[in-house]
Amino acid sequence: MNDVRPADVNIVSPALQPSFVTLGAPYVVPVPTTALATPQLLHVNTALGAELGLDDATLQSAAFVDIMAGNRAWPGAESHSSVYGGHQFGTWVPRLGDGRAHLIAEIVAADGGRRELQLKGSGPTPYSRFADGRAVLRSSIREYLCSEAMHALGIPTTRALALVGSPQPVRRETIESAAVVCRVAPSLLRFGHFEYFYYRDEHAELTPLADHLIDTQFPQFSQRTDRYAAWLGEVVARTARLMADWQAVGFCHGVMNTDNFSAIGLTLDYGPFGFIDAFDVHHICNHTDEGGRYAYDQQPMIGHWNCSRLLQACLPLLDTDPQRAVEIATAILDRFPALYGEAMTQRWRNKLGLAEARDDDRELINRFLSILDRGHSDFTRSFRAISRLNSHDDAPAHGLREEIADLERYDAWIADYRARLRSEGSDDAARAVRMNAVNPCYVLRNHLAQAAITAAEGGDFSEIARLFSLLQRPYDEQPGNEMYAAEPPPALRHIEVSCSS
Ligand code: AMP
Ligand code: MG
Repeated sequence: MNDVRPADVNIVSPALQPSFVTLGAPYVVPVPTTALATPQLLHVNTALGAELGLDDATLQSAAFVDIMAGNRAWPGAESHSSVYGGHQFGTWVPRLGDGRAHLIAEIVAADGGRRELQLKGSGPTPYSRFADGRAVLRSSIREYLCSEAMHALGIPTTRALALVGSPQPVRRETIESAAVVCRVAPSLLRFGHFEYFYYRDEHAELTPLADHLIDTQFPQFSQRTDRYAAWLGEVVARTARLMADWQAVGFCHGVMNTDNFSAIGLTLDYGPFGFIDAFDVHHICNHTDEGGRYAYDQQPMIGHWNCSRLLQACLPLLDTDPQRAVEIATAILDRFPALYGEAMTQRWRNKLGLAEARDDDRELINRFLSILDRGHSDFTRSFRAISRLNSHDDAPAHGLREEIADLERYDAWIADYRARLRSEGSDDAARAVRMNAVNPCYVLRNHLAQAAITAAEGGDFSEIARLFSLLQRPYDEQPGNEMYAAEPPPALRHIEVSCSS
């Protein structure tokens, strides 16, 4: 089936042809989307729509649903797919690309910035290899909800505009149904876009790609003679901070391949991700990741390694003298550990409500994390509960002791923590407000996503809407929604998620 209708300018206002598309081949090629049978809008993100200048009437229109399903082109634009490679689980894979994704339009948002719109699950492309170009409902719900949950947590991420479902069957381990998510980001370029040309020895092709990215996303560097180094330094810094953001909320990405790493420092490609429930520093969220390459405690190191792959690929941009290029790249890369370390320590400090920075903070933080780890305490609930601690008497923090297994070590730690809070003159009420603004009450736990998936597979999409709206305000306790802040019931603690999506 391939009955994609032509653009109709009378239905939704025209969008721009994405500026990335002007680069043309070999970076990006026109590829039509493949129509999806009887598409249904399962959810639409009206807040993001408003940022993009799309009013509610447009977002609910049949034409918009058709565009979001890949059944109609956006007036003014033509769909394209791009080529990239990537290091997958450490191994170089020379040719990947948008195997089931189409860049469909670009829109100037209310803030004046441009946003690329991409459909995921919209049919095969020249990069599909042997796969079907589709995404299943289950993984599309997860990407849709998590993109916006991460955004609301304040973590850089691609956004999600719409989720479209269809009864059209898709074969995975079982027969599932198809869905399409519309992703939105200022740029969807990945580390792997640069690696692709480097490893093909097509080094001249790196320049237009990097220039495009710098001119559109980093105009402040455009006129500098060291523009490539400036951009790479910024990506490394953003990636280091992003890793700290993930660690701070217990987010595990699951497939940190370089083709899933954003050249502008966003969380990208939601697959077998997971938020940690019972804390375990070695937690592996992706069932396929048997060796634990992307385990929770490995994420920062992998982020660093991925940056090394990007810098390697960009060596030809840095200097014509290979030796000098390596020196520049090494200097940029070597900033990662300190950038990550500082960002991470500051996030843990904020999570514990420590107003002052002191030399022994890391020790205090690590002791608490180790208590949570040893007892497999619920990560989100423990941090949320500790804001309720009174620093001036020995009353237990409501809800925290229940999370702890090793009470002896915990009591010793709490005494030191209270002493520290008193020594910096901590005002408990003000501290609780600060802490609650960084320790979420609600995250997209696997069992919550699974409940929305199970209901949706049975034709009830209300749980998607409920979770979507709940997770827009993750830091606010929302009365009546206590069950969404609870740890998973025992039977739902080990939901397996894998790369199959
Ligand atoms: P992922 O593991 O989702 O990051 O995908 C890795 C690569 O496989 C990317 O190039 C995807 O475009 C491609 N891919 C994954 N699933 C499919 C599919 N169902 N059809 C076509 N390509 C796919
Ligand atoms: Mg990917």
